[in-house]
Amino acid sequence: MASTAPFSRRKTRTVHVGPVPMGGDHPVSVQSMTTTYTRQSRATLAQIGRLADAGCDIVRVAVPAPPDAAALSKIAAASPLPVVADIHFTTGLALKALEAGVAKIRLNPGNIDDPDGLRRVLALAAEREVPIRLGVNSGSVRPVRGEGGGAGSGAGGGEDLAGLMVEVLADWIETAEAEGFRDLVLSAKASDVPTTIAASRRLAEVTDLPLHLGITAAGPMEEARTRSGIVLGTLLAEGIGDTIRVSLTGDPVEEVRIGREILAELGLAPRGGVRIISCPTCGRCRVDLVRLTEEVKRRTADIRAPLTVAVMGCIVNGPGEAREADVGIAAARGRGVLFRHGRPLSELKEADLLEALLDEIRSLAESRPRQFDWPRT
Ligand code: SF4
Repeated sequence: MASTAPFSRRKTRTVHVGPVPMGGDHPVSVQSMTTTYTRQSRATLAQIGRLADAGCDIVRVAVPAPPDAAALSKIAAASPLPVVADIHFTTGLALKALEAGVAKIRLNPGNIDDPDGLRRVLALAAEREVPIRLGVNSGSVRPVRGEGGGAGSGAGGGEDLAGLMVEVLADWIETAEAEGFRDLVLSAKASDVPTTIAASRRLAEVTDLPLHLGITAAGPMEEARTRSGIVLGTLLAEGIGDTIRVSLTGDPVEEVRIGREILAELGLAPRGGVRIISCPTCGRCRVDLVRLTEEVKRRTADIRAPLTVAVMGCIVNGPGEAREADVGIAAARGRGVLFRHGRPLSELKEADLLEALLDEIRSLAESRPRQFDWPRT
């Protein structure tokens, strides 16, 4: 599939997160966060390895206490991905993380109130050429501004909360830039879609700093996929966003898969693997298309060559609607047509359709370059 982005990207400043450039014309990077106790370095590194295999570009780890900070030097040295230390409440842990050699720090302006400590962090980060993400969440800006309450609880969280998050960030940007520190990345996340979109749009209007996109506390897999798809899809299609994180309650590897999927569907990243187009079925369908589609998905999950496969329920619209597919089938009563790029190759009995389609997919996949490694420029 073509990797040309159909959307023009907002021009942002470039910062370097270890070897990964962020902003400017560089590809939108995919991030995730480990769910292990960071102080358990072996388990954390094992999970980072799985995230790297799934196509993650940058990994964040929680640093809630000194034993977690103490594990960072080992983790940063052995990690295949640049490591970001996630810091809340205390600047002391940020200093320790910088000394340990992390590639980036995330600070939450909503819960850190230590101007002297912040200046020390900025100075050490500048000395080590480590960027800092100023990341506010809706849940932490309200108490800081004395308005009470927590995260935006619904679709109406809205403009005021978005404005408040941007205001908090603006104060911190001013402080950092007054200290001569420019390697900043910003994020403003809420747990509802409208607030998160509004906040990122405002940030894009008022600054040229790279933006990290995501929705916070996005929920279990299905909810997270929907909410992240809307937030990231909307903003990236407007050219906003330099790095993304899909958050979900579950295996972080799924965050990476969904993030990659979103970028590929937008044409902002190359696709690795089989993309299935299948029809929703209707009264014309005379085969068990749901089972057929599930089988195609299951049995092609290991393929890394970029291929589009169509599984269509009838020959009335099937081949035409799936003309862009590399290979596909259009079923009929008890039979089906195997086609490639919209041209029929053979007519087969229903019982033979699945294997014939899989044979065709595998032979096409072998003729294409495999994409086990996602580009990490
Ligand atoms: Fe219905 Fe055929 Fe369209 Fe599938 S491809 S939804 S069966 S008309």
